[in-house]
Amino acid sequence: MCIEKVNINGLNMQVFSYNTVVVGSGAAALNSADRVYRFGQQDVAIVTEGLLMGTSRNTGSDKQTYYKLTLSGKTPDSIWEMAQTLYDGGCMDGDTALAEAALSSQAFYHLVDIGVPFPHNCYGEFIGYKTDHDPRQRATSAGPLTSRFMTEKLEAQVKQKNIPVFDGYQVIRILTDSAQEKVLGLLCLNLNNLDDEDSRYVLFNATNVVYATGGPAGIYATSVYPPSQTGATGLAFEAGVKGKNLTESQYGIASIKFRWNLSGTYQQVLPRYISTAADGSDQREFLDEYFASPGKMLDAIFLKGYQWPFDPRKVADYGSSLIDILVYHETVIKGRRVFLDFLANPSSSEANGEMDFSLLGDESYTYLKNSKALFGTPIQRLAHMNRPAIELYRSNGIDLTKELLEIAVCAQHNNGGLEGNSWWESNLKHFFPVGEVNGSHGVYRPGGSALNAGQVGSTRAAQYIAARYTTEPPEISAFLGAVQNQVNARIQLGQGFLAKVGTNSNVTDIRQHLGERMSKYGAHIRSLEHAASAADQAETELRNLVDQTTITSPIELGYCFQNYDLLLTQYVYLLAIKDYIQQGGRSRGSYLVFDPKGQLPLECLPEEFKFTLTEDPSFLHKIQRVIYQEGKCTFYWDQVRPLPQEDSWFENVWNKYLNDQIIE
Ligand SMILES: Cc1cc2nc3c(=O)[nH]c(=O)nc-3n(C[C@H](O)[C@H](O)[C@H](O)COP(=O)(O)OP(=O)(O)OC[C@H]3O[C@@H](n4cnc5c(N)ncnc54)[C@H](O)[C@@H]3O)c2cc1C
Repeated sequence: MCIEKVNINGLNMQVFSYNTVVVGSGAAALNSADRVYRFGQQDVAIVTEGLLMGTSRNTGSDKQTYYKLTLSGKTPDSIWEMAQTLYDGGCMDGDTALAEAALSSQAFYHLVDIGVPFPHNCYGEFIGYKTDHDPRQRATSAGPLTSRFMTEKLEAQVKQKNIPVFDGYQVIRILTDSAQEKVLGLLCLNLNNLDDEDSRYVLFNATNVVYATGGPAGIYATSVYPPSQTGATGLAFEAGVKGKNLTESQYGIASIKFRWNLSGTYQQVLPRYISTAADGSDQREFLDEYFASPGKMLDAIFLKGYQWPFDPRKVADYGSSLIDILVYHETVIKGRRVFLDFLANPSSSEANGEMDFSLLGDESYTYLKNSKALFGTPIQRLAHMNRPAIELYRSNGIDLTKELLEIAVCAQHNNGGLEGNSWWESNLKHFFPVGEVNGSHGVYRPGGSALNAGQVGSTRAAQYIAARYTTEPPEISAFLGAVQNQVNARIQLGQGFLAKVGTNSNVTDIRQHLGERMSKYGAHIRSLEHAASAADQAETELRNLVDQTTITSPIELGYCFQNYDLLLTQYVYLLAIKDYIQQGGRSRGSYLVFDPKGQLPLECLPEEFKFTLTEDPSFLHKIQRVIYQEGKCTFYWDQVRPLPQEDSWFENVWNKYLNDQIIE
């Protein structure tokens, strides 16, 4: 590492030089820094806007899942089979799927070894369970806060090795060579010193950048990502990094005051779904009027427990995803608010003041019977079946035994993202997107594979860096010569924001406005017309951002740069949706696409819910990629790379290994 002070256009700045800079401090970033160091490259540092920020550290779910090869029991499993499962999700490259399967046990056992409390039996078998899109029982969990445990234990590893952590440093520009073929470093805002113009900006001169900035959470207003996660995908587009499968994200029902997925027992206890006017008046149950019978409604609510993400294949015949459509209809189209009520049973399912469990279908009835929960009210059943679920809300200021729980259909995960090869290196050389910002997944993915992909990708990137990209970064003078124009342009943008310091700030209004647009037009309900007009609006707002922004102090500069990134990200994502529909893509994954020739889920719903499923199977075998240049997006559709048919004869692999021909 080396530090120098330089002066750029009258501003003093520190420049730090490292072989590798890792951006972010989620599970993927921390693992990457730890691995780069372990594999022999000790000139590595972490740069994060906040060590305790991001999704991994601040989220969880009923049983937060980690997906890996089967490591217990008699059921056979293999790396190939697991790769096939990942690949069969559609639009996932085979080499990536194979690497994610191959390294899944290594990545998992590493977490076990550093202290993540995954449960095992007395013989050391890590028992699994079946998660969604999983033909085996490959899933495991350390409880509701698996990803938090991961960050805590990985952070301890980073601290043990004295890997420097630049905490409170927000990346605002990725610096490249003039052809945008190779990354050269980063320009950051020092959030700890925004008032001081001589320490406000900091430069990193790096041979390699591992980019682990998480999902683009901030483009949505309605979201179950933690509030501290915003994302920085747009900065990578701007630096010439390709995007992939950007249309593919997951959405589902979550509480919004405290952000938490309402899966599992929260639905299986059969709460009432209530809607009110915006001011809380006119309270009424609204699901009944859409379902053919109370029994069908109860079964759909129950199934929502297992079938959490919205899935257009589960809408027909009063399926569980019809509920997501009805919640969207109430909240977004009618402008009402929706709540879960655990205090009383759905009124249409009561007889003589008691819940009539005979209305339930076999699956729901048997489950509740086996759980000895055929009694009382939803809150009594929840207390009986999963008391910690009530405690969790209580510890976050919501008492389910007394109050209603406000909900919405929320953005939860981005399956697509930035492009990386099978070593997680992007088309921008020496730049490695890992974790959720890397779009390694396709349309459908097994629950828990996001956390696995983050650990595997960050390990693969570290292996490659330690083996192949070991050179020191260039002399500071050479670095500055190459990046000065990009730095000047970004500081000018900052000066533009700073020129708007006054008595009022509108940065949070801008954020709310852009987020509402995406939640309305680019989330689980989409159309060609709305995607196109929303993309136009995002582009216009991006162009006019400096003029439209007002702030009250330099402290808000970080927020301004985030708004810049989010508008750019949103623009590219909305154009990806538009291009997908223009190419003939229809409803799939976790979204519904308006199709005027399609069917309505129910005759009484408005036209905009008419849809058809993407029936053309070729759509699952081709991947949409995008490159953003000079404000315009160019889209490509490539065939999915098949699962590699590797030569696995031991002597041959050993020979290649001894001749250092594996990492290429
Ligand atoms: C409610 C919920 C439940 C989930 N459940 C599961 C599950 O059961 N199983 C599963 O596999 N996955 C699950 N996921 C997804 C999974 O948790 C995430 O994909 C994963 O934690 C992302 O990890 P990451 O390290 O890539 O990013 P994050 O943990 O989001 O970290 C990103 C980091 O980058 C930093 N950063 C961002 N921008 C900048 C910038 N410009 N400059 C500096 N730093 C920056 C952030 O502050 C943060 O530290 C769930 C997600 C949610 C929201």
